[in-house]
Amino acid sequence: MGRRKLDLVGQRFGRLTVVNFDKKINKKYFWNCICDCGEKIIRPGQSLISGQTQSCGCLQKERAHETHFKDLMGRKFSRIKVISFKGIYNKRTYWNCICDCGKEKVINGDHLKRGLILSCGCLRNERIRETQLKDLTGKIFGRITVINFDRRKNGNIFWNCICKCGKKISINGNSLKRGLTVSCGCYKLHRIIDEIYDGKSYYTKEEWKEIIKEETSNGKFFR
Ligand SMILES: [Zn+2]
Ligand SMILES: [Zn+2]
Ligand SMILES: [Zn+2]
Repeated sequence: MGRRKLDLVGQRFGRLTVVNFDKKINKKYFWNCICDCGEKIIRPGQSLISGQTQSCGCLQKERAHETHFKDLMGRKFSRIKVISFKGIYNKRTYWNCICDCGKEKVINGDHLKRGLILSCGCLRNERIRETQLKDLTGKIFGRITVINFDRRKNGNIFWNCICKCGKKISINGNSLKRGLTVSCGCYKLHRIIDEIYDGKSYYTKEEWKEIIKEETSNGKFFR
């Protein structure tokens, strides 16, 4: 084989179609071929007939891609599970993925492999929430010291706090951060006492405190 010149013009070998005879080198006949992808290539007849050459090279590339694709299929990257191949955009491979939280997302395979994406975004949100939770514990706002997280209500975070006067109270974190709450209410009381007690008053300071305490229990002077 290969010694005798066969007419291969018009014959197909894999993706290649023989266009015409090109040259003879070292007793080998070389043929001009065109690949289905449009690429032109010159190959010896022997290589075509034996099935050694089936494309311009694009077939191997695709197979390599497929192998490359397969390695992500079904794989798990932290919370992300790869479900199926989505496609190639701008030379990047994209995958349909599902997060542990149930959210589906299309993700760049390269980012998955490099460990840049660990969730649909829920992990990051959780971490942000955690920092939000941590960030006030132990902090002091005026007379208030934050003990720990109390509860979440209408999008606000409430904190268990203790006032210098010893009273425990749950306070909106935003109110603390913005300096709107600086005591359990006692600070204002102390100020009121200082303001109304001029030393000549009929009541002693202690009596004023009692009076205000009573008023406070009615909710009048609270904070
Ligand atoms: Zn090709
Ligand atoms: Zn998620
Ligand atoms: Zn207090």
